[in-house]
Amino acid sequence: MTIVYIGLGSNMDTPEQHINSAIDSLNNLQSSRLLKVSSLYKSKPVGPQNQDDYINAVAELDTGLEALELLDNLQKIEVEHGRDRSGERWGPRTLDLDILIFGNKQIDNSRLNVPHREMLKRAFVLVPLAEINPDCEIPGAGVVSDHIYKLDQDGLEKLQ
Ligand code: ATP
Ligand code: CA
Ligand code: CA
Repeated sequence: MTIVYIGLGSNMDTPEQHINSAIDSLNNLQSSRLLKVSSLYKSKPVGPQNQDDYINAVAELDTGLEALELLDNLQKIEVEHGRDRSGERWGPRTLDLDILIFGNKQIDNSRLNVPHREMLKRAFVLVPLAEINPDCEIPGAGVVSDHIYKLDQDGLEKLQ
């Protein structure tokens, strides 16, 4: 079994509902156990600014799946939530599920980069991650708290 962290994001069609329903789907994921879920956070979009704010969260799972099997399952959940990949890069989406950390593995292939390449730059990833595991080790990059203080957290809002 492997401890993994998944980043969730949505900014279309009632984003909070997509995030909550995606959490349900993660709870029912095969060969896996959902251990923790962060609060929901509101954040400003990355890339194109002419889109709605995002709702983000991070989940911790224990999984028996291989990394690419997990990615397949997450992409299936995205499609079930109406994810359409035809738009511009970093454009609006009903649901985005990224593998942030997969145990102590460092993976770099055409489908998967883990730890997620952009995570160290993103307060909407590191803040919820630190909420559920302040001592979280990011393989190749040290502890989450070593990075979080460097980030601009303006525009990130924790929801009730
Ligand atoms: P970003 O990766 O910067 O957050 P994005 O989430 O908008 O951008 P997507 O369009 O959702 O990017 O995904 C593009 C591709 O990224 C996916 O098809 C997948 O194969 C690949 N990918 C690479 N690393 C990961 C990862 N750690 N988690 C999820 N997908 C990944
Ligand atoms: Ca993403
Ligand atoms: Ca993604």
